[in-house]
Amino acid sequence: MLLIQGPKGNICNECIAAAHQVMEEALPGYAEQTADAAGKKQKESPIDMDKLPRPKDIKEYLDQYVIGQDAAKRNLAVAVYNHYKRLYRKDKPEDDGVEIEKSNIIMVGSTGTGKTLLARTIARLLDVPFTIVDATVFTEAGYVGEDIESILSRLLQVADYDKERAERGIVFIDEIDKIARKSDNPSITRDVSGEGVQQGLLKLLEGSIVNVPPKGGRKHPDQDYVHVDTRNILFICGGAFDGIEKKIAQRLNTHTVGYDSVQNARRIDTADLMQYIEPQDLKSFGLIPEIIGRLPVLTYLRPLDRDALRRILTEPKNSIIKQYVKLFEMDGVRLEFTPEALDYIVGKAMEYKLGARGLRSIAESIMTDAMYEAPSSGEKEFVVTREYAQTQYEKTAHL
Ligand code: ADP
Repeated sequence: MLLIQGPKGNICNECIAAAHQVMEEALPGYAEQTADAAGKKQKESPIDMDKLPRPKDIKEYLDQYVIGQDAAKRNLAVAVYNHYKRLYRKDKPEDDGVEIEKSNIIMVGSTGTGKTLLARTIARLLDVPFTIVDATVFTEAGYVGEDIESILSRLLQVADYDKERAERGIVFIDEIDKIARKSDNPSITRDVSGEGVQQGLLKLLEGSIVNVPPKGGRKHPDQDYVHVDTRNILFICGGAFDGIEKKIAQRLNTHTVGYDSVQNARRIDTADLMQYIEPQDLKSFGLIPEIIGRLPVLTYLRPLDRDALRRILTEPKNSIIKQYVKLFEMDGVRLEFTPEALDYIVGKAMEYKLGARGLRSIAESIMTDAMYEAPSSGEKEFVVTREYAQTQYEKTAHL
């Protein structure tokens, strides 16, 4: 309990809370007034087209945090821009019969290539509520009802229970490929569950009013549901779709066999088949056509090569190396990595094939000792050389 001293007496936090409740019941509008006064709750203003970042601005912003992945950035920038334009039209309807449809997005690319980072960065730029869910949790539960709602509970939560804000948020659904129908799965029930989950998700993607228990968790008889309209929530799905290149290759081959026109004789870069991905490949992989139809923007992320990983270490605004430099700076120590040390980290990350995901843990195992010693060493400078990196890494890594 917290006791607050006033000029003539004391009051505790519980009494303040109780008094607030009395005021809320006695005075209509009291809650809004106090929240406004505290600057907590800003009413969602209608979309302001002048303030809406243009696709090029969005891409430039993404460039500060995400290395490479230009195709995905451009696709995302346009899709997101159109999405918010669509909301603007909803705020200011023109009676011309043109209704802009929602363009949910699907990103295909192996793990650690920046899918989540892209979605998260866009949400930050737009200052909209953002949540990440993992599609695999739906498979485990089997029946989708409860789980699907839990996505929206989380969105409500990050929106501070402001329903209108939540209804304009972004949901990132990760590992969407894991709910693909597996035609070669011997277990029929398992197979159905994949498809059942997709059906459940469909409702959410296409826009419907969903009854959401506000605090998440179990439904409670005396809990009031929040009716969340998903029509304007932007869904961004991501998945590695391991092995989809095979489906792409098959399709490209059948095409070249089927037609012998010059048009089809385009040169195919077999090293990077992902760039040719089309919705029908998602279908071959096991997504149901209805889901694919609800994810009209399809884009891909490239595997990160050595050069990209190297840039990721140092270039993004909050790159891993910049973070370590900042940490040491706070102890008055100037931290430096030699180029060879950086190459060593990149080399290790390449071995793991975890995309950029490996960089962090490798760097951490190299830096732990230094971070332990530096604050009390009195040294003003610390240089991480390749030799130091290797010694530390080999000492601590168990990856
Ligand atoms: P996934 O594609 O599996 O969703 P993430 O976006 O979660 O991958 O990336 C994992 C980590 O790797 C992130 O924390 C991010 O810092 C880093 N990362 C991945 N790709 C990039 C990239 N293209 N540019 C900068 N950092 C990246």
